[in-house]
Amino acid sequence: MNKNTSNKAQTQLPPFKGVGGILRPNILNLMPYSSARDEFTGSASVFLDANENPFETGYNRYPDPYQKELKKKIGEVKGVKPELIFLGNGSDEPIDLLFRAFCNPGADNVIAIEPSYGMYTVSADINDVEVKKVLLTNDFHLEADKVLETANEKTKLIFLCSPNNPSGNLLDTAEILKIVSNFKGLVVLDEAYIDFAPGATLLHNLGNYPNLIILQTFSKAWGLAGIRLGMAFANREIIAVLNKIKYPYNINALTQQRAMESLVKEDEKNKWVETIISERIKLVKEIRQFPFVTKIYPSDANFILVKMNDAKGIFNFLMEEGVIVRDRSKVTLCEGSLRLTVGSEDENKILIEKLEALL
Ligand SMILES: *Cc1c(COP(=O)(O)O)cnc(C)c1O
Repeated sequence: MNKNTSNKAQTQLPPFKGVGGILRPNILNLMPYSSARDEFTGSASVFLDANENPFETGYNRYPDPYQKELKKKIGEVKGVKPELIFLGNGSDEPIDLLFRAFCNPGADNVIAIEPSYGMYTVSADINDVEVKKVLLTNDFHLEADKVLETANEKTKLIFLCSPNNPSGNLLDTAEILKIVSNFKGLVVLDEAYIDFAPGATLLHNLGNYPNLIILQTFSKAWGLAGIRLGMAFANREIIAVLNKIKYPYNINALTQQRAMESLVKEDEKNKWVETIISERIKLVKEIRQFPFVTKIYPSDANFILVKMNDAKGIFNFLMEEGVIVRDRSKVTLCEGSLRLTVGSEDENKILIEKLEALL
């Protein structure tokens, strides 16, 4: 990559100037819905303002629309101010809201690295927004210049994912930050698997980068995929935009309660992460022995991408044996590869036994 092209990209694209300049006009001018719990937030003895049923079911009252208690606790655990947190129905919600807030359908575009998580493209398609794909290198490294050169006047969002799914590797921090510093739109850094890469989060850089949005989730390390809770961390201005356009009560009371219960047991999550990482290392050693395995990509996540002869055939065999893995053999740069989630010791043993039957 030559230096001139990257300088050219930088002069064409003055860095981020604030949310106002890139927001869709209809969102800028939006008068948001005001719920009963928006208009009165204090404590009282009689609530007759929300048409709720007065008989106690445990859930007869609307939940806190801004999840204040939960954000306070998440803020303590993550070392982030609660005002810089948005909570969504999975990470999928902030991804979709970012399209709806910033991308004019049929006009704007976004950039996503390839290969990466499929939801960025699905959400773009739903919102009628073009996705410009920027290939990672053959061993899945990010090239900032290539991404910046692809951006144009209509590029609003850049999606990065680290550790990346399905490749499993962390992206280079310097390359990520080069993109954030030189892009005038917003950079979404999806850290869904960051708990499996201790110390690698860029969460603590948030204050220096007003156009950086970091996504994390309760679906992986926290073991709570079923409650649908995703987190977006960003500066106040961006959080305010997401709050303005979200469904008023987007996080239900059951989810808020269940997340609180897990957050006070962070040790348990950390133990799971430790076990999963050591199981991953074991799994790599065992899988490496198989003659049909041609490459195991290094992983900083709770899964491994494995290239093998006849990936599709092995996928089908495993499926018939009741072991379901993810066939990524048709994905760009992942040709002939399966993605294996690291399971429990027993589950991993079963996987290995089934593969041994192929020898
Ligand atoms: C699993 C995963 C998520 C989590 O999505 P949720 O909607 O929070 O369950 C987000 N990003 C990536 C890349 C993932 O693989």
